[in-house]
Amino acid sequence: MSGKEFLESVDKVFDNSAKILRLPQDVASQIKAPNSTYKLNFGVRIRNKMLTFTGFRCVHSEHLEPVKGGIRYAMHADQSEVEALAALMSYKCALVDIPFGGSKGALIIDPKQFNRNELEKITRRFAQELIKRDLINPSQNVPAPDMGTGEREMAWIADEYKRLNPIDINGFACVTGKPVNKHGIRGRIEATGRGVQYAIREFFRHSKDKKKANLTGEIEGKTIVVQGLGNVGYHAAKFLSQEDGAIVTAVIERDGGVFSSKGIDITKLRNHITKTGGVRGYKGFVKNGNELLKNECDLLIPAALEGVINKINVKGIKARVIVEAANGPITYEADQVLRDKKVIIPDLYANAGGVTVSYFEWVKNLARIRFGRLHKREEENKIEKILLAIEKVTNTKLKNNYKQNILKGADEIDLVRSGLDETMRQAYIDMSYKWHSSKKIVDLRTSAMCIALKKIALSYETLGM
Ligand code: NAD
Repeated sequence: MSGKEFLESVDKVFDNSAKILRLPQDVASQIKAPNSTYKLNFGVRIRNKMLTFTGFRCVHSEHLEPVKGGIRYAMHADQSEVEALAALMSYKCALVDIPFGGSKGALIIDPKQFNRNELEKITRRFAQELIKRDLINPSQNVPAPDMGTGEREMAWIADEYKRLNPIDINGFACVTGKPVNKHGIRGRIEATGRGVQYAIREFFRHSKDKKKANLTGEIEGKTIVVQGLGNVGYHAAKFLSQEDGAIVTAVIERDGGVFSSKGIDITKLRNHITKTGGVRGYKGFVKNGNELLKNECDLLIPAALEGVINKINVKGIKARVIVEAANGPITYEADQVLRDKKVIIPDLYANAGGVTVSYFEWVKNLARIRFGRLHKREEENKIEKILLAIEKVTNTKLKNNYKQNILKGADEIDLVRSGLDETMRQAYIDMSYKWHSSKKIVDLRTSAMCIALKKIALSYETLGM
């Protein structure tokens, strides 16, 4: 799918939802159009040659600031794709009540073609270009990792911002997804995949929604097909299989796929990918990985790129539930075919875990204190007193390991997961409720978009635009 088609898909969902909400045309137009898109061309001297790189940063909606959205490194990136992704960020933040507007960035590059030092040079130069235009700034525009980038790139960007703004006390809040030892937060790397797990857990708590998908019971024993074993796909597949008892029967990657009806060991497969660069050579390897998208399974989790379920393969999709861990993996036409037959947990919601924990990291950076540092021991002391009182009143001695479990105060990672769980659960409850309470709202995607648009429109109305 081209960037243009992706943007059209996002806009069509927007238009449909704006119509359902009867949003005044002027308000709808203001929300839909990206506020600005910067295209940057810059040169970097590498291997004795001046290479010109093209990057983008789109600011979609500034109804709340800072605006937030990842930076991806990909060869297929273009202006329309960045604008579609930035719009999704505005709607996503509104849906899950994160007080940010939407933004997104991209650099046209294949990171695999450059070594670490070269990538650092390119990233720092790209960051300089964005920083000097206030397109990276703790109070205006805060990037994060996305496809092809991770905490290493975020650390370089944060460092570059601090060099250019050494007296900005909030400087480290200029970007999220940083390593923990560089002002990051525990749980950010896993956050999007963890959010996918929490989203699926919440889906399984809603019997009406399960019925729509022809499913019963719990996650345990359900079969899953995952596309993309990168940051998002790996963590989602690992948590769902190792913690919730799901069976990952197929994984699809760039160079093929892996199939096992008994279930794939996700940690082993990921180690294989890290070592060899792909899934080739792993037990159960199949050359045409994309065919596995059409496998019989309970849940299909596309976690790689956009447009992978489209008019060509849509008729063959057998999964009962599709969880859009990637942004825009189902084209608009394919969505029209699938939405009455399956339950689609939309990208707008399903991958919101990343921005949620990014929000926690930003708050942590501004507060300059680790979550839990003030409360943990106080909490433990209080619980200890309660346990002692119980022992005294009942004249019994509680077992030590039992006591230790209850006694443990919340660390940063516990609080991050708790905040993420609350965010994903509440947003699903809101979406599901709206879906079942109006005939015009035919699926979770429309429901999610209606909730988001209502909040953004209200925000603009309050501002008196
Ligand atoms: P990543 O680069 O870590 O992983 C992407 C994976 O997909 C890689 O393993 C890659 O080899 C694989 N892949 C690429 N092309 C493929 C193809 N044609 N077929 C099969 N596999 C292919 O990226 P990520 O951060 O995991 O992002 C994946 C998706 O999730 C993107 O759509 C991104 O926008 C979205 N997302 C990411 C985050 C985040 O926090 N990283 C947050 C929200 C949404």
